[in-house]
Amino acid sequence: MHIYLDANASEPLRPEAREAMLDAMAAAGNPASVHGAGRAARRTLEDARETIAAAFGARPDRVIFTSGATEANALALHATAAGRRVLIGASEHDSLLAAAPDAPRLPVNRDGRADLDALAAFVAAGPAWVALMAANNETGTLQPIAEAAVLCRRHGAWLHVDAVQAAGRMKLDLGALGAHSLALSGHKLGGPQGAGALLLAEAVAPRPLLAGGGQERGWRAGTPAVPAVAGFAAAVRAARQDDRLAPLRAIIEDAARDAGAIVCGAGAPRLANTTCLALPGVRADAQVIALDLAGIAVSAGAACSSGKVAPSHVLTAMGLGRLAGEAIRVSLPWNATESDACAFADAYPAIAARLRAASLAPAAA
Ligand code: PMP
Repeated sequence: MHIYLDANASEPLRPEAREAMLDAMAAAGNPASVHGAGRAARRTLEDARETIAAAFGARPDRVIFTSGATEANALALHATAAGRRVLIGASEHDSLLAAAPDAPRLPVNRDGRADLDALAAFVAAGPAWVALMAANNETGTLQPIAEAAVLCRRHGAWLHVDAVQAAGRMKLDLGALGAHSLALSGHKLGGPQGAGALLLAEAVAPRPLLAGGGQERGWRAGTPAVPAVAGFAAAVRAARQDDRLAPLRAIIEDAARDAGAIVCGAGAPRLANTTCLALPGVRADAQVIALDLAGIAVSAGAACSSGKVAPSHVLTAMGLGRLAGEAIRVSLPWNATESDACAFADAYPAIAARLRAASLAPAAA
C-alpha cells in the first residue's frame, strides 16, 4: 500500500503539467535567442507568464520567474525592503525567517492567526516591510491577509505574502487582497519542482539577487527554466480551487481525535487539504516512521526541517509547548481519494495506541 498524504511538501505532478513540460522539452531554443527556435521558447515563456498573471491578478510584466518560493521570498526582501523596518510572521516559512534573522516576529495566537493589533502598532511606527503567509504549510491556518493589507496600506508599509500553500487551493488575487507582492512555487500546486514566481503589484526598479544576462527584465539573471515554467503554468490552469478535500480531511480528523490526537489550529479557518495532528507524549518522528511502515506518507512539521528532529517553530509560536515536537502534518494531494482518507483512519488508531503504550512504558535499564 502506498498512500501519499504529504502534498504540502510536494504535490504529485498533474498530467497537464507533465504534458506541457514534455512539449517544451522537445523543442530546442533559448528564449533570449533571436532565431525561430529562440522565439518559440520565448512564446512558451511569455504564455506561461500571461497564464500566471491572469490567475493571480497581476500584470504579466510584473511576474518574475524564479527557481521556487525560497528564491521568490528572498528576492522580495532583497528588492523591496530597503529603508524599511522588517517584520516577519512568527509562523512563516524558514526561507523568510532565515533571510531576516534579526527582524522581530509578528506573534500568532493558539490557532496560528497573526496578531493584527501588534501589526498595527508596528506599521504605525514608521516605514515597514511585513511578511505574512496566506496559508501555513504545517497547519493550513489562513492568515487575515486582506485585513493586514488594509493596515499596511494605511501606513505605507509593504506587505509581502508567501502564497505557496494557498495558491491553486483557494482563490487568490493580488489586487483584491491588497498585498504588494506574492511568492508562488510550482511544485506545491501540481507543477514541477524548481519553478516559482514573485508577483509584484506595482512597478519596482529591478534589484536582482544574481547579476548577469539581464533576463526577466533585469530581475533575474540566468536562462529561464522554460519546460519547468511551462509545467508550472499548466498546473496553475488545472488547479481547481475547491473544497473537495474537506470531507476527506474530516474522515482523518474524526479518527485521529477518537484516538486521542489534538488538531492544531482547528479554531482558525484553514486550507481544506491540511491537518496537523498532535499525539501527546509521542514524538513526531516515531509517528511518521510508523505510518510510513504502514504505507502512508506524512511528515513531521515542514519537509525542509524534518531531517532534524526539532520541535516545529510554527507550533512553538502557537504556544503549544511540548506538542510542537509531537505533531504530524497530513496534507491531502489534489488527487486524493476517499479510500486514501479511510486507509489513514483505519491505520492511525492502532499506531497511536501502540506508540502511546511504548512512550508510557518504563525505559529499559
Ligand atoms: N513557503 C512555504 C510556505 C513553503 O511551504 C515552501 C516549501 N516548503 C516554501 C516557501 C519554499 O518553496 P520552494 O520549495 O519552492 O523553494
